[in-house]
Amino acid sequence: MTKKTDYPAIIEEVFEKVNQGENLGDVAHYIPELAKVNPENFGVYLLPLEEKGHGIGNWQEKFSIQSIAKVLSLSLAYKMIGDDIWERVGVEPSGNPFNSLVQLETDNGIPRNPLINAGAMVICDLLISHLPNPEEDFLAFVRNICSSQEINYSLEIARSEKSVGYRNVALCNFIKSFGNIKNRPEEVLDFYFKMCSLKMNCQQLARTFMFLADDNFRGINQERILSISQAKRINAIMQTCGFYDESGEFSFKVGLPGKSGVGGGILALHPDKYCIAVWSPRLNEKGNSYRGMKFLELFTSSTESSIF
Ligand code: GLN
Repeated sequence: MTKKTDYPAIIEEVFEKVNQGENLGDVAHYIPELAKVNPENFGVYLLPLEEKGHGIGNWQEKFSIQSIAKVLSLSLAYKMIGDDIWERVGVEPSGNPFNSLVQLETDNGIPRNPLINAGAMVICDLLISHLPNPEEDFLAFVRNICSSQEINYSLEIARSEKSVGYRNVALCNFIKSFGNIKNRPEEVLDFYFKMCSLKMNCQQLARTFMFLADDNFRGINQERILSISQAKRINAIMQTCGFYDESGEFSFKVGLPGKSGVGGGILALHPDKYCIAVWSPRLNEKGNSYRGMKFLELFTSSTESSIF
């Protein structure tokens, strides 16, 4: 029997098992560029704090990280602005789909949390107000924490989403009507679509999130990215809100803080142990990767490495 701490062997076993099982759901058709992605792609990369990383399947292929980027913009806003951001966005799970409008009316334009579209737009608005060149500065932040100058936006994907982003346009304008967007909605949306279009492979994604798993992580200039308390709070928001109206289910089955994106990626992390990125583009009805969820459930069960 494989030892519970033999992560590479367990990754191989679980990958094989999930690969042989069903691959249900569909790619994100509502963004034309994402509809073109081969739905059979399947990659995983595990990066432990103190050992070498291990990849399997299509882990070297880049994909659009979509909503996973919301954690990165939130982290940059929290780093720059501090606790004042919580006056503009809440920290409660919404229990609703990622692009829902309904709660904003009764909540006076304050989104429930920063990981649903509405909340991520308020964070983009804050960054636009605080950064001289939001798109360049945000990209520089991501490149720094990933320690790779090669990371970039995909202009095709950003343009593609913008061409059909009616619901996001509605969301942004609706929040603006309550006064919780300060800049022009057009500008906020452009930045939001760019942010979501970031492309990475599984290895880069796992590396990028190390600043939330490793208390000793330092950026290129040996600087700390977030304080320990700030990192704890971002992990807590991922744990409770990272999978929209499937956040409870992910917590129940996988037991790690994580974040999904409609590009089919999922990033999960075990504080002080590892970051793991999974990519499989077919999504379940909640917009989360079907195989990604399955893989992580089996992985944390086999390794007995959830946070609970
Ligand atoms: N860009 C996507 C959207 O706004 C992000 C959604 C997601 O990844 N869940 O619809």
